[in-house]
Amino acid sequence: MPSQDAIPFYENPGLCQLLLSQIPTGNTLQVRKSRTPGAGSGLFTEDAIPAGQEVFRSKPAVTCVQDSLTTVCDFCYANSANKVLPSGRFRTRRDPIDAPVECGECHICKYCTELSRGCSRLLTAAKSCRNTAFEAYHKYECAAFSKSGDIGIRARALYRVLIHHQHGILPDHQWQGLMTLMPHQSGHQQGPEKEAVSRIAKEAKVHTGTALDLDTIERIYCVILTNSMAIRLPGQSAVMGTAIDVVGAIMNHSCDPNVLISFHGNELRVRTLRDVEAGEELAHCYTDVQSDVLLRQKLLQAEYFFPCTCGRCKSELDEHDRVTQGEEAKTQTIRGAQETLFASMNDAVSSFTLSGKPVDVDSLADHMEELADKAYPTGEWPPSLEPLPSIYKTLGRLNQAQGDPFSAIEFCLRGCAYTKRRAGEPWMVDLFELVQVLTAVLGSTPDEQDADEPPFPTPAELWDIFHGYLHELLRLAQGNCGHDESYTRAIRSWHDAALKYADGALPGTQEFADRFHAAHRKLLLWANVPGGQWTIDVV
Ligand SMILES: [Zn+2]
Ligand SMILES: [Zn+2]
Ligand SMILES: [Zn+2]
Repeated sequence: MPSQDAIPFYENPGLCQLLLSQIPTGNTLQVRKSRTPGAGSGLFTEDAIPAGQEVFRSKPAVTCVQDSLTTVCDFCYANSANKVLPSGRFRTRRDPIDAPVECGECHICKYCTELSRGCSRLLTAAKSCRNTAFEAYHKYECAAFSKSGDIGIRARALYRVLIHHQHGILPDHQWQGLMTLMPHQSGHQQGPEKEAVSRIAKEAKVHTGTALDLDTIERIYCVILTNSMAIRLPGQSAVMGTAIDVVGAIMNHSCDPNVLISFHGNELRVRTLRDVEAGEELAHCYTDVQSDVLLRQKLLQAEYFFPCTCGRCKSELDEHDRVTQGEEAKTQTIRGAQETLFASMNDAVSSFTLSGKPVDVDSLADHMEELADKAYPTGEWPPSLEPLPSIYKTLGRLNQAQGDPFSAIEFCLRGCAYTKRRAGEPWMVDLFELVQVLTAVLGSTPDEQDADEPPFPTPAELWDIFHGYLHELLRLAQGNCGHDESYTRAIRSWHDAALKYADGALPGTQEFADRFHAAHRKLLLWANVPGGQWTIDVV
């Protein structure tokens, strides 16, 4: 999010050229004035870029590992608990987790060593990430981290920026770039973090010994609050840390994004979600792209201080207006229900995770649906209106964790079939989880069914569905993450191993597509979802 009060990026071509010249890209990128009113600068492509291609990579100005996460190296960002091993296969229970070792001085940063990388030799200190990091920059920050203790990830990012600036580690153009990004200082200084902003800035000045004045430090901290991005590995929802990347932050928001950001270690990677035309502005979604307009807008206002006026927001708001007849109180009731539903779902999941006590998923689902219907003006909450699809998927995962694969697939299917946005990272994760649930179903026998119920697919039909889903999952992974990413390689091995024993026509042929569609319709009908609600192009 570029700043409006400093000289904007688009009026500083020298700085933009420097920033863009440092990032590996096969495309001609430019910073220009955004066409979105009030958005300031934006990042544009001069070339047409097809869907599923990499646009650029970037090493963020600063990154920090998530608080109290013990499995990630603060230097190379190797995650010893990663779902995917570097060799390109999924982790099993037998694969050991060799956690990185804490810095003996600050006890804050963790670093991998030869030992934690799984090497049988004795720890070779000279080769540890800690030593490399220490030489490069950690020697300047270790004492400040040690003195300040547990200050939280964003304050730690501030300390790092200040110290790296002070010692010439942060290049000038990066510093200038940070100072040009939108701080939303007045918003943060008036918000709930008001006192924290000035306290953290004061403490940072004392602990880092920077010569910068307090106002500049507060500004940088607000830039971090506004522009930091969560570091997540492809296909994994766990947050590994935070990154402040100047070129990445110049990209504006869209609820209907044309690119997505993922991380490879702590390197940011941007890929196209659809075909992008030459001259188009690149935009990614700052919030959960699957959530409904009411919650998206609330979050964008609270965290980024702008009201989104994009086409998707407009059409979703029109839809709400049609039902509420423009009555604000009714819209508030829907938004309130969305928040309550999310909160009670999260409560149910965390109480299950913490206590392990079984959850009665069916009555929980009934309770949620009742709550939703009551809040909706027509008395019937549409199944495709969030958070119902997300809740169905979560209930499916709960069932899976409780060892009930048939209920799990019923809920997961309903959630997936009613998900509106079937693109990008969250959808890839949804489909991955559905395939996992289906795998469990393939190994189990269904209960006897009543004759008047829609029949459950035969094992042969289930295998076709499984192969079709895997085919689609591989296509999504290749587009969202690239062919070389270890996640994609792991999906490919899974896909290839499964299809080796497939009977008859394979995905990619019309014969397979006909079989797949018939089987998939049958499965959806069994799960009480209209057969035409969701199809996949498997040719
Ligand atoms: Zn490391
Ligand atoms: Zn240290
Ligand atoms: Zn929008």
